[in-house]
Amino acid sequence: MSDCTGEEILRELFGHLNFDYDETFGNANNIPCRMPYITSMFMPRSPTDRPVPVPECSKNLAFVSQFVEIPEEVVFTVEFSVRVAQIAVYQLLDIEQEIPPINHYDKSIKVKFDAVIKAFA
Ligand SMILES: Cc1cc2nc3c(=O)[nH]c(=O)nc-3n(C[C@H](O)[C@H](O)[C@H](O)COP(=O)(O)OP(=O)(O)OC[C@H]3O[C@@H](n4cnc5c(N)ncnc54)[C@H](O)[C@@H]3O)c2cc1C
Repeated sequence: MSDCTGEEILRELFGHLNFDYDETFGNANNIPCRMPYITSMFMPRSPTDRPVPVPECSKNLAFVSQFVEIPEEVVFTVEFSVRVAQIAVYQLLDIEQEIPPINHYDKSIKVKFDAVIKAFA
Protein backbone atom coordinates (compact mmCIF):
# COMPACT_ATOMS: atom_id res chain seq x y z
CA MET A 1 0.00 0.00 0.00
CA SER A 2 2.87 2.38 0.72
CA ASP A 3 3.84 2.17 -2.95
CA CYS A 4 0.38 3.26 -4.13
CA THR A 5 -0.53 6.70 -5.30
CA GLY A 6 -3.44 8.54 -3.68
CA GLU A 7 -5.56 7.91 -6.73
CA GLU A 8 -4.88 4.18 -6.60
CA ILE A 9 -5.84 3.98 -2.90
CA LEU A 10 -9.05 5.91 -3.44
CA ARG A 11 -9.95 3.91 -6.54
CA GLU A 12 -9.53 0.70 -4.52
CA LEU A 13 -11.71 2.06 -1.70
CA PHE A 14 -14.38 3.30 -4.10
CA GLY A 15 -14.38 -0.10 -5.79
CA HIS A 16 -15.25 -1.73 -2.45
CA LEU A 17 -17.91 0.90 -1.74
CA ASN A 18 -19.37 0.55 -5.21
CA PHE A 19 -18.94 4.28 -5.93
CA ASP A 20 -18.03 5.66 -9.33
CA TYR A 21 -14.57 7.16 -8.84
CA ASP A 22 -14.48 9.21 -12.04
CA GLU A 23 -17.89 10.73 -11.38
CA THR A 24 -17.25 11.73 -7.74
CA PHE A 25 -13.48 12.23 -7.38
CA GLY A 26 -12.25 12.34 -10.96
CA ASN A 27 -10.78 15.84 -10.58
CA ALA A 28 -9.50 15.54 -6.99
CA ASN A 29 -5.88 15.58 -5.86
CA ASN A 30 -5.26 12.71 -3.45
CA ILE A 31 -2.07 12.91 -1.45
CA PRO A 32 -1.51 9.89 0.84
CA CYS A 33 -0.19 10.63 4.30
CA ARG A 34 1.40 8.01 6.54
CA MET A 35 0.73 8.31 10.26
CA PRO A 36 2.98 5.70 11.91
CA TYR A 37 2.24 6.83 15.47
CA ILE A 38 -1.49 7.26 15.05
CA THR A 39 -2.33 4.34 17.35
CA SER A 40 0.10 5.44 20.07
CA MET A 41 -2.66 6.91 22.20
CA PHE A 42 -4.32 3.49 22.40
CA MET A 43 -1.30 1.90 24.07
CA PRO A 44 -2.06 0.17 27.39
CA ARG A 45 -1.42 2.47 30.29
CA SER A 46 -1.82 2.68 34.03
CA PRO A 47 -3.60 5.59 35.70
CA THR A 48 -0.36 7.39 36.60
CA ASP A 49 1.33 7.14 33.18
CA ARG A 50 -0.24 10.32 31.88
CA PRO A 51 -0.66 13.60 33.72
CA VAL A 52 -4.04 14.95 34.71
CA PRO A 53 -4.93 18.20 32.88
CA VAL A 54 -3.94 20.40 35.81
CA PRO A 55 -1.22 18.82 37.96
CA GLU A 56 -1.64 19.05 41.71
CA CYS A 57 -0.51 22.47 43.05
CA SER A 58 -0.20 23.93 39.54
CA LYS A 59 -1.35 27.54 39.28
CA ASN A 60 -0.43 28.34 35.69
CA LEU A 61 0.42 25.09 33.91
CA ALA A 62 -1.92 22.60 32.32
CA PHE A 63 -1.68 19.77 29.81
CA VAL A 64 -4.09 19.53 26.90
CA SER A 65 -4.73 17.28 23.89
CA GLN A 66 -4.83 13.47 23.95
CA PHE A 67 -2.03 12.36 26.27
CA VAL A 68 -3.57 13.34 29.56
CA GLU A 69 -5.67 11.25 31.90
CA ILE A 70 -9.42 11.72 32.22
CA PRO A 71 -11.10 8.73 33.85
CA GLU A 72 -13.46 6.88 31.49
CA GLU A 73 -13.00 9.31 28.59
CA VAL A 74 -12.24 7.90 25.14
CA VAL A 75 -9.08 9.04 23.33
CA PHE A 76 -8.76 9.83 19.63
CA THR A 77 -11.78 12.08 19.67
CA VAL A 78 -12.28 15.81 19.34
CA GLU A 79 -14.57 15.52 22.36
CA PHE A 80 -11.60 14.38 24.47
CA SER A 81 -9.46 17.38 23.51
CA VAL A 82 -12.31 19.81 24.06
CA ARG A 83 -13.12 18.32 27.47
CA VAL A 84 -9.46 18.46 28.56
CA ALA A 85 -9.21 22.10 27.50
CA GLN A 86 -12.41 22.89 29.41
CA ILE A 87 -11.08 21.18 32.53
CA ALA A 88 -7.77 23.05 32.25
CA VAL A 89 -9.29 26.48 31.67
CA TYR A 90 -12.10 26.16 34.21
CA GLN A 91 -9.73 24.88 36.88
CA LEU A 92 -6.92 27.39 36.35
CA LEU A 93 -9.27 30.36 36.06
CA ASP A 94 -11.62 29.20 38.81
CA ILE A 95 -14.60 29.19 36.50
CA GLU A 96 -17.59 27.54 38.09
CA GLN A 97 -19.13 25.88 35.08
CA GLU A 98 -20.14 22.28 34.72
CA ILE A 99 -18.03 20.13 32.40
CA PRO A 100 -20.47 18.23 30.17
CA PRO A 101 -20.68 14.64 31.42
CA ILE A 102 -19.04 11.80 29.50
CA ASN A 103 -21.54 9.83 27.43
CA HIS A 104 -21.38 6.15 28.32
CA TYR A 105 -22.25 4.84 24.89
CA ASP A 106 -20.71 1.50 25.85
CA LYS A 107 -23.49 1.03 28.39
CA SER A 108 -26.33 2.14 26.12
CA ILE A 109 -28.72 -0.67 25.22
CA LYS A 110 -29.57 1.07 21.95
CA VAL A 111 -25.91 1.34 20.92
CA LYS A 112 -25.30 -2.32 21.78
CA PHE A 113 -28.41 -3.37 19.90
CA ASP A 114 -27.48 -1.27 16.84
CA ALA A 115 -23.97 -2.82 16.92
CA VAL A 116 -25.40 -6.34 16.84
CA ILE A 117 -27.72 -5.44 13.96
CA LYS A 118 -24.81 -3.81 12.08
CA ALA A 119 -22.56 -6.82 12.67
CA PHE A 120 -25.02 -9.15 10.96
CA ALA A 121 -26.35 -6.75 8.31
C1 LIG B 1 -7.52 10.39 10.24
C2 LIG B 1 -8.16 10.84 11.53
C3 LIG B 1 -9.52 10.69 11.69
C4 LIG B 1 -10.12 11.12 12.88
N1 LIG B 1 -11.48 11.00 13.02
C5 LIG B 1 -12.08 11.47 14.12
C6 LIG B 1 -13.50 11.43 14.23
O1 LIG B 1 -14.22 10.94 13.35
N2 LIG B 1 -14.07 11.91 15.36
C7 LIG B 1 -13.32 12.45 16.37
O2 LIG B 1 -13.88 12.90 17.37
N3 LIG B 1 -11.97 12.50 16.27
C8 LIG B 1 -11.34 12.04 15.18
N4 LIG B 1 -9.97 12.09 15.07
C9 LIG B 1 -9.20 12.56 16.22
C10 LIG B 1 -9.22 14.08 16.32
O3 LIG B 1 -8.96 14.63 15.06
C11 LIG B 1 -8.13 14.51 17.31
O4 LIG B 1 -8.25 13.78 18.50
C12 LIG B 1 -8.25 15.99 17.61
O5 LIG B 1 -8.23 16.74 16.43
C13 LIG B 1 -7.11 16.41 18.50
O6 LIG B 1 -7.25 17.81 18.72
P1 LIG B 1 -6.13 18.59 19.46
O7 LIG B 1 -6.52 20.03 19.43
O8 LIG B 1 -5.86 17.97 20.78
O9 LIG B 1 -4.81 18.35 18.62
P2 LIG B 1 -4.54 18.74 17.10
O10 LIG B 1 -5.81 18.93 16.33
O11 LIG B 1 -3.53 17.72 16.64
O12 LIG B 1 -3.88 20.17 17.24
C14 LIG B 1 -2.56 20.33 17.66
C15 LIG B 1 -2.02 21.55 16.92
O13 LIG B 1 -0.76 21.91 17.47
C16 LIG B 1 0.10 22.23 16.40
N5 LIG B 1 1.47 22.03 16.88
C17 LIG B 1 2.14 20.87 17.11
N6 LIG B 1 3.37 21.10 17.55
C18 LIG B 1 3.50 22.44 17.63
C19 LIG B 1 4.54 23.32 18.03
N7 LIG B 1 5.72 22.85 18.46
N8 LIG B 1 4.31 24.63 17.98
C20 LIG B 1 3.14 25.13 17.56
N9 LIG B 1 2.10 24.36 17.18
C21 LIG B 1 2.28 23.04 17.21
C22 LIG B 1 -0.30 21.28 15.28
O14 LIG B 1 0.09 21.82 14.04
C23 LIG B 1 -1.81 21.28 15.43
O15 LIG B 1 -2.45 22.30 14.71
C24 LIG B 1 -9.34 11.69 13.91
C25 LIG B 1 -7.96 11.84 13.72
C26 LIG B 1 -7.39 11.43 12.56
C27 LIG B 1 -5.89 11.64 12.37
